Amino acid sequence: MVDAMALETSDPTQTEAWAAQFAASMKAGDVLALDGELGAGKTTLVRGLARGLGIDPGSVSRPTFALMNEYEGGRLTLVHIDAYRLTGPDALASLGWERLIADPSVIIAVEWPSKIEGALPPERTTTIALQHIGEDVRAITVTPPRGWTPCPTTGKRVPPDSPTWPFADRQAQLVDLYGWFAGKNTISRTVDPERDDLSDITHASEAHPTDDSD
Ligand code: ADP
Ligand code: MG
Repeated sequence: MVDAMALETSDPTQTEAWAAQFAASMKAGDVLALDGELGAGKTTLVRGLARGLGIDPGSVSRPTFALMNEYEGGRLTLVHIDAYRLTGPDALASLGWERLIADPSVIIAVEWPSKIEGALPPERTTTIALQHIGEDVRAITVTPPRGWTPCPTTGKRVPPDSPTWPFADRQAQLVDLYGWFAGKNTISRTVDPERDDLSDITHASEAHPTDDSD
């Protein structure tokens, strides 16, 4: 996933191209909430996602008549939901929402996510807001899932379940470690034994007793 960011596009092909690029960073299970008024470019963006995943972008329908489409044939299956005319949790259930949200091989992109607020898992949902700036100009703002924190090395947002948390990846972790060895990182205040509870720290000599006692 990319970091929180904002950009502007000045025509639909740019929006599509950006989305195609963005799709490369997406993984199975990701959910996208696409915010924006009618004509903001949500469907255009989904077409770009499809292309980025290796799906024929022509299969992404322009008008708002289908509530849900599944586009296959790419790196991952793209599920495209237009929630505009969904009237609550029952309607969502009839689309097989439970199965979709548990399916480990799909990406779900939702237009009009406010209509199904609460159904989207916050720790997996990236919000992309599209805003009409001018005739062909759109502002795109990406907000990563809630609970993600910035990596101390790269500043990239890291999901709470990452094996290298709070670091973006192994390399970022090693760079930080190197900083300590190289003396670039220091503790900015002296340790106060009265204030800092150090009682839980196991000393190396206790953890690995020597064989002297034998
Ligand atoms: P939505 O799904 O949000 O209702 P659509 O993607 O269906 O929006 O339609 C967006 C319309 O705006 C299209 O006609 C598209 O050609 C036009 N458009 C103009 N400029 C842009 C842009 N920069 N990004 C996306 N769409 C744009
Ligand atoms: Mg649309």
